[in-house]
Amino acid sequence: MALDTETSHRYAEITLGALKQSGLSSTPDNYELWYAHVEGGNAALSSAIQKATDKDGKLSQEKADRLYKEFIQHAELSHDMMKLVARFHEEVSDLYDVVEQGGENATGHSEKLTSISDQLTAAASDTPNVGDLLESILNVAKTMRAENEALESRLAESASEVSALQRDVEAIQAEAMRDALTGVANRATFDRSLVVHMQEALDEEEPLALLLGDIDHFKNFNDTWGHQTGDQVLRLVADVMNNNVKGQDLLARYGGEEFAVVLPGTSLANAKMLANRIREAVQSRRLKKRRTNEDLGVITMSIGVATLNENDSSESLIERADQCLYAAKHAGRNCVIGEEELSQKQADKGVA
Ligand code: GH3
Ligand code: MG
Ligand code: MG
Repeated sequence: MALDTETSHRYAEITLGALKQSGLSSTPDNYELWYAHVEGGNAALSSAIQKATDKDGKLSQEKADRLYKEFIQHAELSHDMMKLVARFHEEVSDLYDVVEQGGENATGHSEKLTSISDQLTAAASDTPNVGDLLESILNVAKTMRAENEALESRLAESASEVSALQRDVEAIQAEAMRDALTGVANRATFDRSLVVHMQEALDEEEPLALLLGDIDHFKNFNDTWGHQTGDQVLRLVADVMNNNVKGQDLLARYGGEEFAVVLPGTSLANAKMLANRIREAVQSRRLKKRRTNEDLGVITMSIGVATLNENDSSESLIERADQCLYAAKHAGRNCVIGEEELSQKQADKGVA
C-alpha cells in the first residue's frame, strides 16, 4: 500500500530519530530495517527489535545486521520465491492439461507435483528445504518425460497402424469395385456410376452415350481353345477397349463376354465413332497362344450405342443399347448399330 507524502515524511523523521536513539549509524540497511519497524506492518520484526535492544534502547550493529538479514533480505528472497512458486503452479496446471490425457500414471505424477508444489509454497520462507524439493520435482519430471515419450511413441505406432489399416480398407474398396479377371470396373460399379453420370448429364443438359459390346461367337472360341485361353482374350479385349477410352469415360465388364462404356458429354455420332474404333482395334489383333505361338485367329465384337433421353431410367437406357447390340448381331456381327438405326429399322418394318 503506497503512503501519502506527508505520512512517509513523518515515518522518515521518526525512523531517523529512532535510529539515532538506537546508536546505529544511518546506513541504508539500518534505515530500511528501522523504517519497516516504524511503519509497523511487520509485528514479528518489531518484537524482534524490541527484544534485541538493551534497556537503554541501544542496538548493536551485529544484531541489526542479523535482523536485517532475517526480516528484510529474507523477505525479499521469499517474495522472489513466491513468484517462482506461482510460476511453478502455472506450469504444473499447464502440465495437467497435457498429462491428464496420458492416463493413470500421469494422475499419480500430478498428485505428487501438487503435493510438492504445496510444500514449496510452505517452504518459500524456509530456503534450505527448497533444494530437496526442487530435486524431487526434477525426478518426477524425468519420470514423466520418459512415460510421455513412451506414450508418444505408442501413439505414433497406433497412428501408423491406423493409416496402414486405412490403406488396406481403401485397397479392399478399390478391389471390390473392379472385375477380378480384367481389372476394369465391375457390374456393381457400372450400375452405380451410370445413375450418377445420367443425373449429371440431365442437370447440366449434356449428352450421354452408352456402348454395349459383346464378343462374337465366343462360345466357339472357348470350345476350340479352352476356357483359360478365353480368359486371356477377355483380358486382351478389356485392354484394347481401355486404350480407347479416356477421362470421364467408364469402361466396365457388364457380364461374361460383354463390356459397357459410359460416355459422358458424348453425342450419338461421336459415340458410334468410338465404338467403331474399338471394334476395329479388337479385330486388328491377331491372337497367338503365348507359349506355343499357335495362331488363334481373330475375334470380333458387336456393339450397340444408345444415348440418354430425358425420360430415361438406367434400365430403359441399357435396354435400348441392348436392342442395338442385338440388332448388330442380327446384322451379321462385327459391326456397330446406333439407336437411330434401330428406330429407322422399326419404321421400315412398320412401312413394310
Ligand atoms: P454371340 O456372337 O451371339 O455373342 O455368340 P457367343 O458364343 O459369344 O454367345 P453365347 O452367349 O452363346 O456364349 C457366350 C460365351 O462366353 C459362353 C461362355 O463360355 C463365354 N464366357 C462368358 N464368360 C466367360 C469367362 O469369364 N471366361 C471365358 N473364358 N469365357 C466366358
Ligand atoms: Mg453375350
Ligand atoms: Mg457373345
